[in-house]
Amino acid sequence: MKFHVLTLFPEMVEAALGTSITGRAMAKGIICLHTVNIRDFSLRGDGRIDDYPYGGGAGMVMQAEPVMRAWESLAGELPAQTRVICLNPQGRVFDQKMAEELAGGEELVFLCGHYEGIDERVLDEIVTDHVSIGDYVLTGGELPALVMMDAIARMVPGVLSNQESGQSESFQGGLLEYPQYSRPEDWRGKKVPAVLLSGHHANVDRWRRNQSILRTLRNRPELLKTVTFDKKDRKYLQALITGQAEDEITQEQAVFLSKLLAITEKS
Ligand code: SAM
Repeated sequence: MKFHVLTLFPEMVEAALGTSITGRAMAKGIICLHTVNIRDFSLRGDGRIDDYPYGGGAGMVMQAEPVMRAWESLAGELPAQTRVICLNPQGRVFDQKMAEELAGGEELVFLCGHYEGIDERVLDEIVTDHVSIGDYVLTGGELPALVMMDAIARMVPGVLSNQESGQSESFQGGLLEYPQYSRPEDWRGKKVPAVLLSGHHANVDRWRRNQSILRTLRNRPELLKTVTFDKKDRKYLQALITGQAEDEITQEQAVFLSKLLAITEKS
């Protein structure tokens, strides 16, 4: 997987992606990073690429021509249909599903804005996708591009040392991940759940699945609407609702689960 990043701050992107797991994947050649400094295409030759917005108002806008030239400097080398992603708080919100989908491509281009953003005309020319990392405004597109590249890189075979660790994580199958514990067994009087020490793999798997369901119910209940529950899941959900499970839920959560079970039973 090759990432191309059009940016005013290549050193920021290179330093962050070159660290830790993604850094190791780069060293092994599993992922590649190519940054293009938009300042190198400044029309005035002084590195400035911004100008005042037409119509007035606060802030500066990145001009169309330097961005276009930066894009043209690499466009000829890209496979046909390469997606050009503009980091944009107004775009579609990034999620795990999008990360999986984008990881299927060979190369991706990220366009990072700064200041008030980028002249709309060049966006119309080159961008295939506008993507936001959440409903808040940052100073630039570099951190959002890094967030996306990190999440996408983890989906690329060989990036994680143990592919399994990518498969059981939050959002896979619509659930959040179960709680994790490591040594010691007793930390300041808090014990690791006994089932995890039992060596009984089926029980461990069941406990983890139940904890994933419980955690999703407590933290992100809306995600449960997309989950397919099997017979054992339903038994646990019923036990939660009737108060027969070891884990406790609120009255409101019980009502939510009852409705959810009724809907999913019909479908
Ligand atoms: N004036 C723009 C608006 O109101 O939509 C915001 C510009 S923001 C200050 C500067 C740049 O940061 C944007 O062009 C974009 O590249 C990036 N950015 C800021 N917040 C972002 C977010 N939530 N997701 C993706 N990119 C973001």
